[in-house]
Amino acid sequence: MEKVIIIRYCEIHLKGNNRGYFEKVFQENLERALKGIRHEIRRPSGRYIVEGFEEERADEIVARLSKVFGTHTLSVAYKVSAELETIYRTVLSIAPQSGTFKVQTNRADKRFPLDSMQMNAEIGGRLLSAVPQLKVDVREPEHILYIDIRENGTALVFGKYVKGAGGMPVGTAGKGMLLLSGGIDSPVAGYMIAKRGMKIDAIHFHSYPYTNLQAREKVEELARILSEYTCGLQLHVVSVTHIQEEIHRLCPPEMMITLLRRFMMRIAERTAQKNGAQCIVTGESLGQVASQTIEGITSSESVVERLPVLRPLIGLDKTEIIEVSRRIGTYDTSILPYEDCCTVFLPKHPLIRPDLAEVEREEARLDVERLIEEALTSAETVAISQ
Ligand code: ATP
Ligand code: MG
Repeated sequence: MEKVIIIRYCEIHLKGNNRGYFEKVFQENLERALKGIRHEIRRPSGRYIVEGFEEERADEIVARLSKVFGTHTLSVAYKVSAELETIYRTVLSIAPQSGTFKVQTNRADKRFPLDSMQMNAEIGGRLLSAVPQLKVDVREPEHILYIDIRENGTALVFGKYVKGAGGMPVGTAGKGMLLLSGGIDSPVAGYMIAKRGMKIDAIHFHSYPYTNLQAREKVEELARILSEYTCGLQLHVVSVTHIQEEIHRLCPPEMMITLLRRFMMRIAERTAQKNGAQCIVTGESLGQVASQTIEGITSSESVVERLPVLRPLIGLDKTEIIEVSRRIGTYDTSILPYEDCCTVFLPKHPLIRPDLAEVEREEARLDVERLIEEALTSAETVAISQ
């Protein structure tokens, strides 16, 4: 009786001609998630089986694999020889001690002497006699005991489906540059776009020494949590201190955020192009704060010359975003109270509906190109491995 893990995948099924490619990337991502754990991954038909690992690491393996996009469900199963007696003993070993149940057999090997219905009745009957507190309920059982009779003389026996991360394998949908702040939203945006198969790099802007080193560590921690879903990532860290000082010195205070956003977008676009990213990704959600009105978005997007800007959270409420951030494990880090660069020099009344012509006029007081180049020379890249 060997413990194995069954991985069932999702939308990959849909990709007709590209299927081989999707499966290859998916398998590489599974392998990467299990780095440091002895194991073997096989692909019989339509699913993956992990085996050859130390049994006590099964839960850890499931936890890691359930974060790999493309994974639909997982089960920890016992692999045994496909003989009635052995299968029965295995089912008995995982059966609950009370409540309602049913047995569900899937028979890939049609040579097995009992068909699926007969097998359900046979094993179910034996369980009823062995465990007096159990009752059969084929419609809405509390427990389902699954038997999967394979073609190679083995059977898989399991009792649970664990939900996987869903989505598409990371690396099958290009690459994006995520603007990662220390807030709640942008890590969720990164998660959602990676779920569609996009590889991401992240760029973070800070205003050291106005912002402190803890703020930087917080962002690195967010990037690390995110990297468990994104198969690692490169974090580019860029100082906008001088840009903020110049805006503060030369432009109206209420335009601080509007103008700073335009710098962020320009720097993000250049960093994206330098690193092979094909789009910019932000955590904006329509109307959430002053800078995220349609006028604010127009102002920041108008400086992006060549790449599309993707905003996976645009239609979500804050409560919905918070729900995802709790589920993916970024929330507790996001709410740590360290200053973001946007809160430094924060005006009392930021512009809610900036007028593009006016923004451009005010911005003309700044030496935009020189400030961008200077910021880019300050850039550091941290490789965050999964
Ligand atoms: P978040 O929770 O992601 O910080 P927010 O609700 O605080 O979002 P804003 O501060 O207006 O909203 O930021 C909007 C988006 O701009 C963020 O989601 C992020 O993508 C980007 N952004 C803001 N500040 C930074 C920063 N310091 N570095 C990188 N990107 C940033
Ligand atoms: Mg923020």
